[in-house]
Amino acid sequence: MALRKDSDSRRLLRRLRDTLGSAGASQDRLDSITHHIADSMGTEVCSIYLFRDADTLELCATEGLKAESVHQTRLRLGEGLVGRVARTGRFINTANAPAEPGFRFMPETGEEVYSSFLGLPIQRVGEKLGVLVVQSREARQFTDDDVYGLEVVAMVLAEMAELGAFLGTAEDSLPLAHRFPSFFRGTGVQEGSAEGHVWLHEPRVVVANPVGDDPKKEKARLLDAVATLRTRVDTMLAEADMVADSDHAQVLEAYRLFAHSRSWLKRMEEDIDLGLSAEAAVEKEQSQARARLEMAADPYLRDRLHDLDDLSNRLLRILTGQGSDTGAEMPENPILIARNIGPADLLDYGRKLKGVVLEEGSVGSHAAIVARALAIPLVIHASRITSEALNGDMILVDGDAGTVHLRPEESVAAAFRDKIAMQAEAQSRYAGLRDLPATSTCGTRTELFMNAGLMADLPSMENSGAEGVGLFRTELQFLTRTRVPRRSELAEMYSRVLDAAKGRPVVFRTVDIGSDKVLPYMKPQDEPNPAMGWRAIRVGLDKRGVLRMQLQALIRAAAGRPLHVMFPFVAEPSEYHIAQKMLMEEMARAQQMDRPLPVDIRVGTMLETPSLAFAPPSFFRACDFVSIGGNDLKQFFFAADRENERVRRRYDTLSEPFLALLDQIIARCNEAGVSLSFCGEDAGRPVEAVTFAALGIRRLSMRPASIGPVKHLLRKISLTELREVIDLARAEGRPVRRAVTEFLARA
Ligand code: PEP
Ligand code: MG
Repeated sequence: MALRKDSDSRRLLRRLRDTLGSAGASQDRLDSITHHIADSMGTEVCSIYLFRDADTLELCATEGLKAESVHQTRLRLGEGLVGRVARTGRFINTANAPAEPGFRFMPETGEEVYSSFLGLPIQRVGEKLGVLVVQSREARQFTDDDVYGLEVVAMVLAEMAELGAFLGTAEDSLPLAHRFPSFFRGTGVQEGSAEGHVWLHEPRVVVANPVGDDPKKEKARLLDAVATLRTRVDTMLAEADMVADSDHAQVLEAYRLFAHSRSWLKRMEEDIDLGLSAEAAVEKEQSQARARLEMAADPYLRDRLHDLDDLSNRLLRILTGQGSDTGAEMPENPILIARNIGPADLLDYGRKLKGVVLEEGSVGSHAAIVARALAIPLVIHASRITSEALNGDMILVDGDAGTVHLRPEESVAAAFRDKIAMQAEAQSRYAGLRDLPATSTCGTRTELFMNAGLMADLPSMENSGAEGVGLFRTELQFLTRTRVPRRSELAEMYSRVLDAAKGRPVVFRTVDIGSDKVLPYMKPQDEPNPAMGWRAIRVGLDKRGVLRMQLQALIRAAAGRPLHVMFPFVAEPSEYHIAQKMLMEEMARAQQMDRPLPVDIRVGTMLETPSLAFAPPSFFRACDFVSIGGNDLKQFFFAADRENERVRRRYDTLSEPFLALLDQIIARCNEAGVSLSFCGEDAGRPVEAVTFAALGIRRLSMRPASIGPVKHLLRKISLTELREVIDLARAEGRPVRRAVTEFLARA
């Protein structure tokens, strides 16, 4: 067996590099590669299978199998041993291939005479490109060294494929990675469609030369880079200023230990001995970690593999000098692609972006909140898109359907453009309604307010024709900073919000923080059910300093102007009473200090827990206003997690039980003479919105983009007539949604 010595391996790699560097058609290169590998490995057969599309592998070159089968033999992902290697990302090494589970005999190749089989994935950082196979007649198991040596060869092939070495001009040349259209189905978080070009948050590092000529030199480069990495990680962690015994600190300590891991370094040095360059060695270990990550179920192991992945990225950036700042220019209509992104980074890009696609993330993540505030379409859970997409690639994002087309076919792009044009046309129709009231034909007027949370939201007030801000989510200011914002900062910000509102009311909701919305500077609470955990007013009342500081900032900001304050997640009256008292104390204190006070203070509550719907009349009388937070109210009413795709759309807002709950709230508010609004996402859905209005909710607060469509519909119909339709359907036990939709279709 060859490749016994490191020098054999290096010789082979150099031969491969020379082949790949030579002029000529890609087929000739592939042919000569298989020849060299078979020769060095001392096997009769060496074959290269490459992906023809995302599910099909094609035999592209072979030494030893029948020449006629090249470009004829195809396998689906998971089919036969080759397909299995491709699917799992793991090698198969067997002395008796036909006895191996899943073996599929392909007569056209003439492979029946070969008994032993070693197949390895050709992959690059989680991206599957193909499979490399060697076979021999003699029934023998390949040694660990053989496997290892061939892994290095596969790595070089992957790098070469990445650099386009196998892209030929021949007619049957394969559409290799990054060339063919790809489709991703994720989860839509922020609606809207966008067409644009890929902008990678962390661009891929290109390894220009995977083969190292001088192992000593390459090892020295690697050691230098690892030393830099370790220093950087140590400094980063020292600056993180963590509570020493927190879980967070322990996680970071594990990360640090990984950066100092000897075995990681040793493996990379062995790769270099076999002929890889320092950066190719880093990538080889990273690729294997990614492959393991995809298969690993154990959360602890997954975290560690994630650490390794992250550290490898940093190391590659140090070695190649490439990274976030490549000097590349942002393309026109940029659509941001990232594994995940923090709220602060996303805000930095701001409105330049036309859309965002993430591999990870969650519906309620901070990035999602920011994307919503910026009103740019966002799709999450688009798995593997960061390995597929290249800067500048054309991309279509559908935030409603949660789908993404990368490098789309022209017909797909054309259909998509039609959809965008239709949406734009509808928006321009709504623009004409901007300054008109949402008065229905029966004469009832519904107030349409907008939800906001960032300074970036404020221009939408003018464009959308919102009559005020019905929900200002103040936690976003806390989430996008690395420390608790100062009172003066907050006061200044709130004051600018009021300036921008130009006298229109703004309802500031005090921070809804805690549980899953963990601040970077807050000790994380490990809670089994964070949505029902220590959050919002519960944190505010237990740790009063922050709430007090926020109330002081609001009072200062609103000096001489009206102030509306709303408390989140109140579950029983006493919570509201205490918070309200705190506000009044702060008012009194400001007065004692002779500070100018707000002219008119209104205090209200969110109604987000079913319990509050059944609070006594005295509670409602103590509130100046109540706002239904349907997102939370629904999740608790139906016991269906608003973040869980499987259940979040399962129960209908317009079903009888939920409508009966709304009736109950409306009746209590009417009796107490307190004004009622609805500020959850449902308020911005036209069918739900008109139903709420018909039931008697006179103020709806929604995303600015929803104001046009909701107003358009409200102005077309009579709420009195709609109410009759709803009452009748409910009396007869028919679905209200259907009755309302049919009514709207007739209108
Ligand atoms: C709600 O729960 O409906 C709401 C408006 O609050 P948030 O979405 O911020 O929890
Ligand atoms: Mg809520």
